Amino acid sequence: EVMSKMRLEDKVAVVTGGSRGIGKAICLELARSGAKVLVNYAGNYEAAEQVVEEIKAMGRKAISFQANVTNQEEVQQMINEAIEKFGGIHILVNNAGITRDNLLMRMKDEQWSEVIETNLTGVFNCTKSVVKPMMKQKEGVIINITSVVGQTGNAGQVNYAAAKAGVVGLTKSVAKELATRNIRVNAVAPGYITTDMTDKLGEDLKDEIEKNIPLQRLGKPEDVAFLVSFLASNEADYITGQVFNVDGGMVI
Ligand code: NAP
Repeated sequence: EVMSKMRLEDKVAVVTGGSRGIGKAICLELARSGAKVLVNYAGNYEAAEQVVEEIKAMGRKAISFQANVTNQEEVQQMINEAIEKFGGIHILVNNAGITRDNLLMRMKDEQWSEVIETNLTGVFNCTKSVVKPMMKQKEGVIINITSVVGQTGNAGQVNYAAAKAGVVGLTKSVAKELATRNIRVNAVAPGYITTDMTDKLGEDLKDEIEKNIPLQRLGKPEDVAFLVSFLASNEADYITGQVFNVDGGMVI
């Protein structure tokens, strides 16, 4: 029997916020497709190491790396580590993100700036540090996790919606800048996915949200991870500068 090559074999991926939720599912799915994975985290070492162990159990390579995406120096060290340990950087998934919800009139300056720094400047920092190595390699894929809220807006999330809409503008601009270098840049916009981030919301609100989703269920982290894995592969070779919703039809 002929063994077909896995679609991400020989590829190296860095996933920010890979320790939990959507990022964790992305790490596992990329590894399942053959990639070597750097699992980035902000503070949760144990969770990140658990993801690494799961990947090693598949017979794939993985390391965890603590770096705050808001810190340019730490981000640069993270990318250097991926290149040193795994020999390149082919896939960057900008997934790390936070919420600090509040109505505009009550929103504190720190709530605004923390979310903009992490969810938008973090994407800028990580993207900037992979450009040179990806140009040298003559190949690269960048996938940014935005949100449907960046398209629709959401009461109580002016900071988050602004950051996520910003990520869309960044995605399209970088896609145009780097297309001739064989670097593709796309964004994935999840709807409502069950993770620690959304566990904070009450059951009543979840039921209400479910009613407004045509596919009648909340999303799973894997629903997002499958698309990311496809976009990272050569099968998506002709796709750049796009935003794809994974939202059960929430935004039709
Ligand atoms: P989550 O469960 O709260 O996990 C957040 C992840 O980001 C953790 O791995 C965390 O690391 C990491 N992180 C947070 N701040 C960081 C920083 N400054 N530097 C590096 N890593 C940092 O979140 P999630 O629900 O999986 O969300 C993942 C992404 O999807 C986010 O960008 C979010 O905005 C987006 N999204 C989520 C939903 C949803 O319904 N869940 C919907 C649309 C979009 P530690 O474990 O170390 O804390």
